[in-house]
Amino acid sequence: MKKPKSQVLEALRNASVDEAKAVAFLEAQRWGDAPCCPHCGDLDVYPMMTGEKRNKDYRWRCKGCKAMFTVRTKSVLEETRLPLRVWVYAIWKAASSKKGIAALQLSRECEITHKSALFVLRRLRHGLTEENPQKLTGTVEVDEVYIGGRPRYVSRSNMGTYADYKTPVVGIVQRGGDVRFRVMPRVTAETLGHFVAENADRSCRLITDDSKAYKTVGLAFEGGHKFTRHKHRQYVKPGTDIHSNTIEGVFSLLQRGVMGTFHSVSRKHLPNYLNEFQFRWNTRKLNDDERVTRVVKSLVGKRLEYRESVENPPYSEAAGVEF
Ligand SMILES: [Zn+2]
Repeated sequence: MKKPKSQVLEALRNASVDEAKAVAFLEAQRWGDAPCCPHCGDLDVYPMMTGEKRNKDYRWRCKGCKAMFTVRTKSVLEETRLPLRVWVYAIWKAASSKKGIAALQLSRECEITHKSALFVLRRLRHGLTEENPQKLTGTVEVDEVYIGGRPRYVSRSNMGTYADYKTPVVGIVQRGGDVRFRVMPRVTAETLGHFVAENADRSCRLITDDSKAYKTVGLAFEGGHKFTRHKHRQYVKPGTDIHSNTIEGVFSLLQRGVMGTFHSVSRKHLPNYLNEFQFRWNTRKLNDDERVTRVVKSLVGKRLEYRESVENPPYSEAAGVEF
């Protein structure tokens, strides 16, 4: 049987080369059949015309508050004058590539500067931030991973431990459910405890490796705390479902994305990239069409002004970090 053609994919293909189609695409994704005023919520709005055509900025006017707006208004798209077809292309590629798209590739494919491409992708990732996420339930696995390369020109004996030159990222995943990441300056029982308590419900069953830091963390859970002995190369407790292979799988996608697509990610911007990987994992059961719709919807109502992005990087050591 022939697979039915995806209308969203067809629209994406057209929208990424034609500005008018890009505008129409984003408008349809944001508002559906009922465009509404982002200022007052009024549905009594009309597109402004120049003769037969839409005016050159594709503006709308609201009959209620008389204000003008476009599809960019009150979303992360508002920050630049870059053509919307570039945004559509970036959304498409970021949403459908398993390991993300590099800014250099986007800059080549859309013929924009590397700086503009970084700007767009930075804002897309900011837009993917989950708002008021629900607590995870059931069986959850927690583990940490160290992101970053080895320091160059340093002898092995002077390198110290992983924690000295790599950036620790802690992840928690619900089996069959969502994942959450966080960059941590130091992984201790206390910081882990805060992170796990914020993200998992008390009724959970917690599964970790045999790191000491999890011992006190695990006491808080009604479902109990089980662990495998990684030090003894035990990855599954024989005859049980006790393993942390789900979170290991999530981390392997993350590490392959960082290695293969982005090559190196600064500690400062790592939380921003984690947003993207988190979104991709949490929407893994959707198809590409649904995922694109989800991205466009999540860009609305968020802003990342240039100054804000420079003054408040997603992670800063001095500011005591995001916990
Ligand atoms: Zn209005």
